[in-house]
Amino acid sequence: MREIYRKRVETLLESLPYIRMFSGTTMVIKYGGAAMSSADLKDEFATDIALLRYVGIKPIIVHGGGNEVSTYMRRLDLPVKFVEGLRVTDAATMEIAKMVLVGKVNKEIVSLINSKGTPAVGLCGDDGCLLRAKPLLKRGQDGVPIDLGLVGEVTEVNTGLLSLLEADYVPVVASVGAGPAGESYNINADTVAGALAAALKAEKVIFLTDVTGLHTDLDDESSRLSECTVDEVVELLESGKVSKGMIPKLEAVLTSLEGGVGAAHIIDGRIAHSVLLEIMTDDAGLGTKVVSGIGISRA
Ligand code: ADP
Ligand code: MG
Repeated sequence: MREIYRKRVETLLESLPYIRMFSGTTMVIKYGGAAMSSADLKDEFATDIALLRYVGIKPIIVHGGGNEVSTYMRRLDLPVKFVEGLRVTDAATMEIAKMVLVGKVNKEIVSLINSKGTPAVGLCGDDGCLLRAKPLLKRGQDGVPIDLGLVGEVTEVNTGLLSLLEADYVPVVASVGAGPAGESYNINADTVAGALAAALKAEKVIFLTDVTGLHTDLDDESSRLSECTVDEVVELLESGKVSKGMIPKLEAVLTSLEGGVGAAHIIDGRIAHSVLLEIMTDDAGLGTKVVSGIGISRA
């Protein structure tokens, strides 16, 4: 019996260097699709967030909820369309997306984190003008602008609001931006996470996804990159070896690192406690870590 307790203490001691290194820092975590796909994964995610708070790390959650938006769109017989990983958003789509993301998904995450003993506060771009936005101008490979409707990009982040909350609450941010005339924009949640992390100069930004990491060849599992630099990411984006939702994710990785974030991680959200595994252990088998350049890598 004593052996069991000894092992528990060892586990705690192993995490001490990480707690010492990261206590007091801000980490932006993009929570999405795969990690939300089962009740167990949701519960484990909320537990990880509570533990981070208790050891002095300040997590900020940014979430999508794409699958749920599509589900409700189909129920209402509205078409679902994506271009290069971005949801084409007309006024009806925006209305549903806001209702689902802000009213449903956001509050589910907030209540789950609350239930772990760490109070969370749900926000979207409207709240305290957290995320100001404008239409995203996206060009196709032929250079012609693609009409994505009310898909937006972040122009300004009100970091002051997050500073007010950070002592006592976990902010949970739905990826809806506020336009100058009060209109709403649907912003890819990865894009929001990248912009928030850059504005806050976060220690880390962590993207939970539904693959094991960034691959040079998506059909070859052994092609996962465990660590790479900004230059390699740019090269990969230009090579055409990246498609769909990985494009805005990598663009967000670049935004965050160019903004001074220490490291960006793309990790497998299908694995239980993937957030703690990433932050509190040295397991290089987990995901892809992107840093600004060789030699300046931190933990
Ligand atoms: P989420 O936003 O929930 O992480 P997305 O579907 O938006 O999910 O983005 C992840 C997807 O990106 C993966 O499921 C994969 O199909 C796709 N993808 C495209 N190119 C790559 C690549 N080179 N490496 C890894 N994933 C890629
Ligand atoms: Mg995505």
